[in-house]
Amino acid sequence: MGTHERIEQLRQLAESDPNDEMAHFSLGNALIDAGRPEEAGPYLQRVLAINSQNSKAYQLLGEAQMGTGHRDLAIQTLTNGYRIAHRNGDLMPMKKMGELLEQLGAPLPKVADKKAAAASGGGGVEGFSCRRCGGDGPKLATRPFKGPLGEQILAEICENCWREWVGMGTKVINELRLPMFDPQAQEVYDKHMKEFLMLA
Ligand SMILES: [Zn+2]
Repeated sequence: MGTHERIEQLRQLAESDPNDEMAHFSLGNALIDAGRPEEAGPYLQRVLAINSQNSKAYQLLGEAQMGTGHRDLAIQTLTNGYRIAHRNGDLMPMKKMGELLEQLGAPLPKVADKKAAAASGGGGVEGFSCRRCGGDGPKLATRPFKGPLGEQILAEICENCWREWVGMGTKVINELRLPMFDPQAQEVYDKHMKEFLMLA
């Protein structure tokens, strides 16, 4: 069976069942192998909507975003994927995503080493565990903006991760050319923020 037929078969399979994680994953993978990253992206995003812990899908989505020249989005995807792979002990995708981040000139995410954090003993907040990095603080002093999402970030996200998002948010606005006076653009921005902070 040729590549084209295989892709069309997988596409039919994926489109007949939006919750078929394996079909969407295989299709995204096949499209990347075939040098069609612009088509692979939406299918891989669907994989992550079905299963947000599929670290290999983050790796492939990052590769697809690199292939379409979305450098900052690729960094966001690979940074999150690296953390999830670390948390789940998925060594191969973690190593590969580390290499891709290096290729992109991006820093490796700091993954919380609970033992080291306990040994250093400083700056931690008792009973707090940041939802994104798993570290124990420091927490934000005040909520970053009004509303329930701001409250959630204050309660669940550490100061460091929030600062990382502020930097990334600016890049997202520039890269996607979001007109921030447009409520729809605000929605897209919030979606990226929730993904980055793992609040989705
Ligand atoms: Zn954090």
